Amino acid sequence: MKFKKPQIKLKSLKSINYVLMKYFILLASLLILLVEVIFFMVVSSSLESHARNRLTGIGGEVATFMTANDDFAVSGYLRRYRQEGINVVVLSQGGEVLLPFDDSLNENYADEISYIKEQFKDFGGSSLLYSKNNSLNYVSVIDYHGGSYLFANYSLKIINGTRNILLVYFILVGIFVLLAAALFSYSVSQRLSSGIKNLSATAERFSKGDFNVNFTNSEYKELAVLSDTLNSVRDEVKKSDSFQRELLANVSHDLKTPLTMIKAYASMIREISGDNPQKRDKHLQVIIDEADRLTGLVNDVLNVSKLTSGINEINCKVFNFTEFLYGIINKFEYLQETQGYKIMVDVDANLYTRADEEKIGQVIYNLLGNAVNYTGEDKTVFISLKSSLDGDRIKLKIRDTGKGIAKEDLPEIWNRYYRSRETHSRPVKGTGLGLNIVKIILQNHSFDFGVESELGNGSTFWVDFPSVPAEIDVE
Ligand code: ADP
Repeated sequence: MKFKKPQIKLKSLKSINYVLMKYFILLASLLILLVEVIFFMVVSSSLESHARNRLTGIGGEVATFMTANDDFAVSGYLRRYRQEGINVVVLSQGGEVLLPFDDSLNENYADEISYIKEQFKDFGGSSLLYSKNNSLNYVSVIDYHGGSYLFANYSLKIINGTRNILLVYFILVGIFVLLAAALFSYSVSQRLSSGIKNLSATAERFSKGDFNVNFTNSEYKELAVLSDTLNSVRDEVKKSDSFQRELLANVSHDLKTPLTMIKAYASMIREISGDNPQKRDKHLQVIIDEADRLTGLVNDVLNVSKLTSGINEINCKVFNFTEFLYGIINKFEYLQETQGYKIMVDVDANLYTRADEEKIGQVIYNLLGNAVNYTGEDKTVFISLKSSLDGDRIKLKIRDTGKGIAKEDLPEIWNRYYRSRETHSRPVKGTGLGLNIVKIILQNHSFDFGVESELGNGSTFWVDFPSVPAEIDVE
């Protein structure tokens, strides 16, 4: 058995690897961006606030130092701030640098002083922290030379430089984390998809007709469940495949015998018994019997394939089971009259059930046929149809007095084309399909059924039907 390759447009589909990696990297990039932006904002604002604190702190530091030291010491003290990148000077009211004593500092702060004076005039106070011309400035009025200004300024370029270095670091770290995320997502997706790829490779071998494949995956729960399901599908297909082969072999074998007989007897009639009415009738009877056997075989095969393919759905209705059963038993009357069979009947009157009448007829016909075929030398078959004590169920029992069925054979007899190895007490025209048909029909109805049998003590086949009032027939 081979399966047609599914026609999927692979080009329009994306691989699990691709999708997993794409979303993982996208998520990682978003996270990195978010973390870095927050970090960058926090660091730069803390750099600025540190600079502000430092500048305002200088005011207090210098004032304290000035009270205890002479101008030269203060001058040296102020110069020391340059190491931190902070320019600290004491300015006169006109903007000249009074301290530190430094030739290089002949810069005039007149503009700055007038700006400061304006600010003090507008807002009051004796100290001010402000940013101007890309630098952070601090000024406070001090009691030096009858009123001067302590002026400190810090270039914001230093902060921006630090910021830029940080930015470069962040970009480098981001690229590294992204690469790591890509590598990680690649290995995770590889691991995930390798399980699926293995299963798909096994399924491909299976589709090419290798039924000995084994679907294994124990790494992930979902794939383990899928493997398990695929293994049961494989078992079912394997079973059905071997059933098909067996059925074909058996059916062709069974078709051959009656066909050979029909041909042989037809030739005999043409060549030998054509003019002898007695012999001719006998030979014709053989042909009719063999043709009947062929019809039975073909019907059974058709029934099984129809039932298993689900073409024949069950069609339930309420009917008088008692009368229906008697109708079937009557069909076996010719056996009683011509071959001395006894069919003992114990049937309750007017029992009604709801089922597919035609199919249940086939079930009873097959079970009764088997009982007749396999019953003992007394040629007796017992049929009973009894209502249960609570009135809910009707039990049908068909018993024979034959050799019975071996315990190990009991579960097998319901299988398609099963025929016991035991030789039958009389030539039996079975196909090995009868009980399989019975099983499928009763399972489709969800009726309980079974067999009780012991070797040497005959067999009793039973089926439980629902008991319904005569008038009820609800779909
Ligand atoms: P068959 O056409 O061979 O009777 P069935 O499917 O009806 O096929 O039955 C399958 C096998 O079960 C039979 O070949 C026979 O070995 C066994 N079997 C069925 N009914 C009986 C019975 N009443 N007594 C003993 N064996 C039975």
